[in-house]
Amino acid sequence: LRHLVVVLGDQLDLDAAAFDGFDAAVDAVWMAEVAGESTRITSGQPRTALFLSAMRHFAQALRAAGRPLHYRQLDDADNTHTLASELQASLAALKPEAIVLTAPGDWQVWQSIKAVAKAAEVPVDVRDDRHFYATVREFAAHAQGRKQLRLEYWYRELRQRHGVLMQRSPDGTMSKLPVGDQWNFDADNRAAFGRDGPGLLPAPMRFAPDDITLEVIRVVREHFPTHPGDLDAFDWPVTRAEALRALSDFIDHRLPLFGQFQDAIWPGEPWLYHSRLAAAMNLKLLNPREVVNAAEAAFHSGHAPLPAVEGFIRQILGWREYVRGIYWTQMPAYAERNALEAHADLPAFYWTGDTPMACLKDAIGQTLKLGYAHHIQRLMVTGLYALLLGVKPQQVHEWYLGVYVDAVEWVELPNVLGMSQFADGGLMASKPYAASGAYIARQSPLCNQCRFKPTQSTGDAACPFTVLYWDFVARHEDLLARNPRTVMQVRNLARKSEADRAEVAEKAQALREGRWPAPDKAT
Ligand code: FAD
Repeated sequence: LRHLVVVLGDQLDLDAAAFDGFDAAVDAVWMAEVAGESTRITSGQPRTALFLSAMRHFAQALRAAGRPLHYRQLDDADNTHTLASELQASLAALKPEAIVLTAPGDWQVWQSIKAVAKAAEVPVDVRDDRHFYATVREFAAHAQGRKQLRLEYWYRELRQRHGVLMQRSPDGTMSKLPVGDQWNFDADNRAAFGRDGPGLLPAPMRFAPDDITLEVIRVVREHFPTHPGDLDAFDWPVTRAEALRALSDFIDHRLPLFGQFQDAIWPGEPWLYHSRLAAAMNLKLLNPREVVNAAEAAFHSGHAPLPAVEGFIRQILGWREYVRGIYWTQMPAYAERNALEAHADLPAFYWTGDTPMACLKDAIGQTLKLGYAHHIQRLMVTGLYALLLGVKPQQVHEWYLGVYVDAVEWVELPNVLGMSQFADGGLMASKPYAASGAYIARQSPLCNQCRFKPTQSTGDAACPFTVLYWDFVARHEDLLARNPRTVMQVRNLARKSEADRAEVAEKAQALREGRWPAPDKAT
């Protein structure tokens, strides 16, 4: 065997760099399903099922393309259940001249492949992942010499470099100016649904499980019976063809209102105008260029307004590339950071949804049922509560990595540790996203269904978010006072009476000990 082309579970792209020069006469592909990847950090059932189903469908596509394949199934009797041990055994049996692979997305996985190859004395030809617009080297060059990293500068650079939503002269020459003379339409993109709610929403296309997925669901239930999450509602795209249909469905039906309602929450409506495309992109079933190009074309054809299209493209060309750059330039130290010195345990209700707080119950319940919550639920409900409570960032990270179907470490870790928990001390985000229950009340009607009052930080109906918010401001007064974007929070705290501050501290402590602020009425 000349090359053993290693394809990881999130590298399901027939055109990946690892296949350049592939010759079926002398090369073969290697893929392995191993329990270790679901137990190293507990992976929820929906997430594991999505990975395995997409891998098995990709194996079919490889065979159809005539590429010889060595594929390990989770239920193979002699499966040793770690990537390292499986690869080691295959290297010994197949004796390839070299391993070829596209740069892995996960730091730990990459270390383990390198170690196995070294021990077996097999050279590794690792190739750039051209799925992304930018290489890690380009990001590192951008970051070099900057005191602070900010999404906005990186995003503008990529828009100019790749000609996305840029003005052009009649002869097609690109200018340095953005379409609409504005880089950012965030101010247009913060609407909540009014009192009457979102009305009739365009339901996203569903992908009912086929025989392969049904078999995977059975295997996942059998192997990981205690892992969180529900498989009854599984309907994710698991092939490239399905992912392309999901993309068209989003562009046609939800993109036009994506921007406006990007930050809104409505109970019982998990999808709203979101794309549901993160998992398909992260598994590489979809290329971000085709997603961005489809959105830009929808603007040029008049189908979708600029604020919606810019807001959507910013997430992919901007945030997605930005967090990848942060991950790969900062690992492995990044994973250990804990700038706010947060040491509390993640409350047990994150694994059950069993809490009297309506917003958390809704977001966690939906997460466990579907493996999905949209950005504002992740950032400003589940993430916010952990930040305010002072949960150890590594525990928060493990929860997020397990429960979302789109979770892969290079994107999940910076979002959790950096953006949501401020554990990197401001490398990624310009301020801690600390807010009181009033924020949730503005974005959703959930507070109307809750026994706690978002405006209150004292008294029996005090909202845990609001209590913990003031406690957070008090605990991090010095840090927040130094930042012009948060100094007002400290000034507002100074207006509170000593008695109120003492009550807040006491209630916050009770919450950290798992006791609710009101004299406990059962949930
Ligand atoms: P949409 O709302 O339709 O957005 C479009 C696309 O933009 C997404 O599919 C995604 O590819 C990209 N995107 C949006 N926001 C971000 C972001 N902040 N960083 C990177 N890409 C972004 N995204 C993941 O893909 N995997 C994760 O594990 C993940 N964990 C997160 C954890 C926290 C605490 C937070 C705050 C955000 C996280 N995100 C993660 C980002 C974002 O919340 C999800 O990408 C999004 O909710 C997925 O749903 P969607 O496909 O419907 O996205």
